[in-house]
Amino acid sequence: MGDFDVVEDQAWNGIPVNYYMEKGWKDHAKDIYPYTREMLSFFSDVTGVSYPWAKYSQVAVRDYVSGAMENTTAVIFGEFMHGTKRDLIDVDRNEKIVAHEMFHHWFGDYVTCESWSNLTLNEGFANYSEYLWMEEKHGRDAADYHMLNERSGYFGSVRRGEPHELIWYDYEDKEDMFDAHSYNKGGAVLHMLRHYVGDDAFFSSLKHYLTENQYSAVEVDELRMAFEETTGEDLNWFFDQWFLKAGHPALTLDTEYADGKVMLTVEQTQKTDNNVPAIFRMPVEVDIYTNGSTTPNRQVITVDQRKQTFTFDSPVKPDVVIFDPHHQLLAQFNYTKSAEELAAQFKAAPNLVDRYLVLQRLSSKEASAAKTQTLTAALKDPFHAIRGLAMQTMTEPTAEQLAGVRMIAEGDPHSEVRAAAIGMFAEAGGDNVKTVAESALTAQPYPVVAAGLQALVSVDPEAASKAATRLESIENDDIAGALAELYAEMGDVSKLPYFEKRMNEVDGYGALNLMDGYRNLLAKGSPDQIAAGVAKLKTLGLNQGTSPWRRLAATKALNDMREALKEAGGASPMIDQLKTMIEEIKAKETVGDLKQIYEGYGQ
Ligand SMILES: [Zn+2]
Repeated sequence: MGDFDVVEDQAWNGIPVNYYMEKGWKDHAKDIYPYTREMLSFFSDVTGVSYPWAKYSQVAVRDYVSGAMENTTAVIFGEFMHGTKRDLIDVDRNEKIVAHEMFHHWFGDYVTCESWSNLTLNEGFANYSEYLWMEEKHGRDAADYHMLNERSGYFGSVRRGEPHELIWYDYEDKEDMFDAHSYNKGGAVLHMLRHYVGDDAFFSSLKHYLTENQYSAVEVDELRMAFEETTGEDLNWFFDQWFLKAGHPALTLDTEYADGKVMLTVEQTQKTDNNVPAIFRMPVEVDIYTNGSTTPNRQVITVDQRKQTFTFDSPVKPDVVIFDPHHQLLAQFNYTKSAEELAAQFKAAPNLVDRYLVLQRLSSKEASAAKTQTLTAALKDPFHAIRGLAMQTMTEPTAEQLAGVRMIAEGDPHSEVRAAAIGMFAEAGGDNVKTVAESALTAQPYPVVAAGLQALVSVDPEAASKAATRLESIENDDIAGALAELYAEMGDVSKLPYFEKRMNEVDGYGALNLMDGYRNLLAKGSPDQIAAGVAKLKTLGLNQGTSPWRRLAATKALNDMREALKEAGGASPMIDQLKTMIEEIKAKETVGDLKQIYEGYGQ
């Protein structure tokens, strides 16, 4: 057992809530494990079962292999959780993981899956708790944005591999069960079930399921029966297609208007191998917007054929038709809309996903008034991801749009969006880049400070260099990345010691950025400096006691150096020396994923 400081929170309903903190982190317990007590209340409320254990403790440990683990009453996390309040501004990762592991105390610990095949009864619920928490704490847009990302994680995994049943009896290795099916698809299916039965029935069914099966192991039939007993409805069709069969619908949609009627054709085009149904049954809503109104004519339909056409009365041609306006359906869509329809959708449809899809689709549309107006409006959207995506979608911002970008650069409440705007504003060569950059340097969130520094480089390198020196003492990966880029660009080899100090501290992608900068700067050094730097990278690459990210970053830097030397066409003896080093590192590496990456090196 390591040496931890125990931080005691206020007890929750008489239950001790403690944080076991690694030395140096005790003042940050509540930033690292945010909203713990609030979540105990929230999840007790939504499940109707008060937190059923005698205490709640959380601890982050070094070199933990599996992200986090819901050990009953004593959750373990990896060290990636660590951060100060300032590091964690706008980072919702920690609260989602805290929610996930905590919800397992109901789904996973209180009631647990009977076999690995039923793992989604643990992980699907824990995954969905993240949605429930985001919805409760940060609102529907934040929750739907989270779901959008979860779904795309699942779609990505199916593209790379093959779909399988959510309740999966044919897995080869139990580790295969811990995939984007059990987690992401499981959460998305629960979301559909909630939408289908309604909130009251959904949460009553969960309470019934938990109470009926407390302290026991279950299969998916127990979940189905809990919902059937609560709703009085046969739900075999739902559980069959979503839990016991594989895949998801691929839908091609088409709308036409003639003679006062809207005709919506829905075709299911999913491939039917791997036990994917040819026909999914989908009760779904359709919203028809007309005459610039923001109140739709809502229709409820059931899609239950391979191809079918639905007809609705409409006195005028609709501005836009929205299929599944709650975006609850786990499906992929092929639905062509004009820029005018997309503009109408952006204005009228209330769901975040509709606005998000509009911007994604506008990116491939030719320039038009509708496109320009929508992107300009999107810069003022209440949800940060829409403002961010609007900037990404703009190719040549108009003066009005650039003014919008400047507003975001000067004070957007969301740090990543603000940082992106600062970069964009500097690149577009807007007026007063220096003012915007200098004000960013005094902001709290590190991504904003880093973006401010990068912007300042482009207009006043000398001021940027001075600012950079002041930032060297900050231990944050965004800052390290920005400094690495700046110093490499300036070619100031007196800065090598900065990198050599930070090399043993940064983690994750920050390590890759830092060592990439180090490598670029090192190339400008003397032969002695280069030899010393290469030796340092080699030591780090070989060090099985340090973070795998640092090892990877160091080894990648060595390989990139070798590539650069080869490309320069010289016959430097270093090319072979670096190859030998990479071979040595590869032979000593214990992590399979890294070994595999190294296979591609040194060819
Ligand atoms: Zn889990």
